[in-house]
Amino acid sequence: MFSGLSPQPADGLLRLIVLHRDDPRPGKIDLGVGIYRDDDGATPVLKAVKAAEHILLETQESKSYLGADGDVGFVQLLEPIIFGAEMAGSSRLGGVQTPGGTGALRLAAELVAQSRPGARIWTGTPTWPNHAPIFAGAGLEILTHPFFDAETQRIEFGAMMNALESAEPGDVVLVHGSSHNPTGAELDEGQAEALAELCARRGLVPLIDLAYQGLGRGLEEDAGLARRLLAACDEALLAYSCDKNFGLYRERVGALWVQGQTADATQIARDNMLVVARGIWSMPPDHGAAIVRVILERPELVALWHAELDEMRDRISRLREKLAESHPLFAGAARQTGMFALLPFSPEAVTELREMHGIYMAGNGRINIAGLTEENIERFVEAAAPLLR
Ligand code: PMP
Repeated sequence: MFSGLSPQPADGLLRLIVLHRDDPRPGKIDLGVGIYRDDDGATPVLKAVKAAEHILLETQESKSYLGADGDVGFVQLLEPIIFGAEMAGSSRLGGVQTPGGTGALRLAAELVAQSRPGARIWTGTPTWPNHAPIFAGAGLEILTHPFFDAETQRIEFGAMMNALESAEPGDVVLVHGSSHNPTGAELDEGQAEALAELCARRGLVPLIDLAYQGLGRGLEEDAGLARRLLAACDEALLAYSCDKNFGLYRERVGALWVQGQTADATQIARDNMLVVARGIWSMPPDHGAAIVRVILERPELVALWHAELDEMRDRISRLREKLAESHPLFAGAARQTGMFALLPFSPEAVTELREMHGIYMAGNGRINIAGLTEENIERFVEAAAPLLR
């Protein structure tokens, strides 16, 4: 049976975790895996999450099955945060809980593939490396458009729009909602408006990947691009992750919404999402979504979550500014948002930084800004600046 399988290379980032763990040098710097870290390099459980877990421990009376749509209260309570008060609860929005943002993206792709055999999806270059296997796994044809030039640290907006002008009606366009992974680059107001206009005019369907809401410019600000696209286009999908903004990573907390042309079309699309979900994971894991629901149901826990989210975002912004001030080569960091920056390191430079200086980053030159600290940032800049292309 299994002789037909070929050996697979180890996952680059997981390999990096092991190398970093086994590195005995005291000053090693981990800028690899995409998780938030505090000044001590730790990724602690949020206080709001701990409080919600206490409440669940005391009050949860059953672990019996929920439906394929998961925790309905969780989905409803997220709607005003993502879509705004006006759009929340709209009959043109149909949402279901999913196992993380990854599950939401896969479910979106499966729904598109079912609805439109031969469907195509456009992704920017570069994008989160998991996007391609997620979409290809559902049978979508993947097309790419230019997005970001690491050398100039600028979005290649003209080239991106030119490529998308050649998209066909019904093509899906993947858009990072905020804090682009791996580049941190964001469309400005005019660019966002132009993209929304193009999608609407050419009948393209945005699939918005919103995995870092609140970690870029702020909860409201980070939803701006998504809301603009949803307002401009009749049909859209939005894949959401609570794994970063609630620090729930391993609990796998996400949701997928479809926006249909009418309430009836939305209902049919949502029903199809549930059928697909039943055939993959049956129902999503409960604990993380229940935590988010318990927080969002209680104003005092919402306030605590906001404060903790603000603290994470402020720390990232401070480090971005410090990095940008430290050397002209890092000036782009101040314009960009969220945890990531993509620096023009050659693969050899990435290896040299790791082997000679104990500085760990993804092979493509992506750094996790949150892995820097007030203490280690200077050492990073001294070692890294001479190696930039
Ligand atoms: N989209 C992007 C752009 C991401 O960076 C990530 C996580 N790295 C996800 C989606 C998926 O998040 P989750 O861990 O919730 O599956």
